[in-house]
Amino acid sequence: YPDIQTLADVPRLHARLRGDKVALIEGDRKITYAELDHAATACAAALEAEGVKAGGRVGVLDKNAADYFALLFGTAKIGAVLVPVNWRLAAPEITFILNDAEAEVLFVGPDFVEALRYFGTELKTVRKIVVMGPAAGDWPGFADFLAPFDTAADPRRETGPKGTVLQMYTSGTTGHPKGVMLTHYNFLGNVPLREESAEAWATWSAEDVGQVAMPLFHIGGTGSAFLGIYAGATMVITRDFDPGLVLRQIEEYRIAKVFYVPAVLLFLLQHPAAATTDFSSLQYILYGASPIPLDLLRKALAVFKCGFVQLYGMTENCGLCTYLPAEDHDPAGNERMRSAGKPQVGVEVKVIDADGNALPPRQVGEICARSRATMAGYWKRDDATAKTIDADGWLHTGDAGYLDEDGYVYIYDRVKDMIVSGGENIYPAEIESALFGHPDVADVAVIGVPDDKWGEAVKAVVVPKPDSRPDADEIIAFARTRIAGYKVPRSVDFVEYLPRNASGKLLKRELREPYWVGRERRVN
Ligand code: ATP
Ligand code: MG
Repeated sequence: YPDIQTLADVPRLHARLRGDKVALIEGDRKITYAELDHAATACAAALEAEGVKAGGRVGVLDKNAADYFALLFGTAKIGAVLVPVNWRLAAPEITFILNDAEAEVLFVGPDFVEALRYFGTELKTVRKIVVMGPAAGDWPGFADFLAPFDTAADPRRETGPKGTVLQMYTSGTTGHPKGVMLTHYNFLGNVPLREESAEAWATWSAEDVGQVAMPLFHIGGTGSAFLGIYAGATMVITRDFDPGLVLRQIEEYRIAKVFYVPAVLLFLLQHPAAATTDFSSLQYILYGASPIPLDLLRKALAVFKCGFVQLYGMTENCGLCTYLPAEDHDPAGNERMRSAGKPQVGVEVKVIDADGNALPPRQVGEICARSRATMAGYWKRDDATAKTIDADGWLHTGDAGYLDEDGYVYIYDRVKDMIVSGGENIYPAEIESALFGHPDVADVAVIGVPDDKWGEAVKAVVVPKPDSRPDADEIIAFARTRIAGYKVPRSVDFVEYLPRNASGKLLKRELREPYWVGRERRVN
């Protein structure tokens, strides 16, 4: 759509083209495109009345909600920046993010009002709190906040395509979450390119029904929801992640396109209703954000019987890097099933060594990407930005992997999780997949622990299957039959569960911590 220059133009355009079409469904609520655009305008005017100017930060701490989109497009209409906060974080982390972002107005979901009464005093820049639901005490509800501006004119004060519209924090898998400044251009710059590619998963139509089941505070949630809204599709919001509800919605609304993280696919498959749900409306399941075990992918293909497309990306490039097309999902298990795919249209990918030289196919190094989706930078962290985006515009992803001869990316691990033992670089992912083959292993993580002789030694942390009692020596012997000697774990610990974040990503730094007390781990 040439009429679309900024995110704010998206609801404006659809209000004109298909105003009565349902944009968002949340429980019993249905919001048309005309209503969405109208709410965005009211929200923009209300925020202006609160003194929020272009570049001002607006926080939102809520579970998935239809009103989130009124906030997103409302802030866009005045050139302000929406900062969605991961509500699953602990209060000090939430406070850190809102203070770091210098949020002026905070929208809080009804589920977090009580908690906010306690930690709200720690917020240094928030002048106004609005509840994303009914009023609570002296905090107005969202409808009360908008009501005085019901007849306001569209302010049309958005910053140009290069202005920041969303400040999304990284998942914090490898360290403190960092505020990623994403621009209108980051979101919009690639849509026409993707449409040119004529990949059916990427080219949504207004007739499509999509589902928003992943958290909107991560790029996977907002980014995939945006694909549908850009096209004027109907998006069904899952407020609370509940596998039974997610499955019911697919059948009830005849959902065609979804985005799930691997951990969610696992939950859905384990749910009893998976066996009886009608999946015939599903065209594509987009999945990604963390590595997917091959067994899980095979099982999902057999149960959902629709197109599967893997996406690899990160907050820093608006979630957009490579994709593994549906036709490369051969359940017979060709090599491609282990790949995160090839660059999307408009994306360049290369793999470099520690000195920054591009590596030939099949040599493992750091994956770098360059595209229109590359962030403007990390908020208030110029040093981190300079380390991440080089002078030629390449984004250093922090992921280790290689390219094959056809340009398909294979992700090994995070560069930071690589183990250096006796001068050898060891990638935990390879050892983990070998150990997953052990009949008593339900879940496993491999980490580097301090070793006086070798620098680091390989340790496996294993969650045993229920009712099994695997033995450390036996697991080590099993590994010895499958991987090179220097990669075999020196020790095995057993735990009940592994620490994971909201996207189901393994928090290796947390897992490593107790072993590294009082010691400094070298950072690659
Ligand atoms: P932080 O940057 O704070 O440590 P994070 O990197 O987990 O957290 P995100 O930007 O949400 O934060 O996630 C991007 C990362 O997720 C990628 O760098 C990659 O490691 C992982 N990832 C994304 N998609 C895939 C995929 N398809 N397969 C494997 N890993 C993936
Ligand atoms: Mg990251």
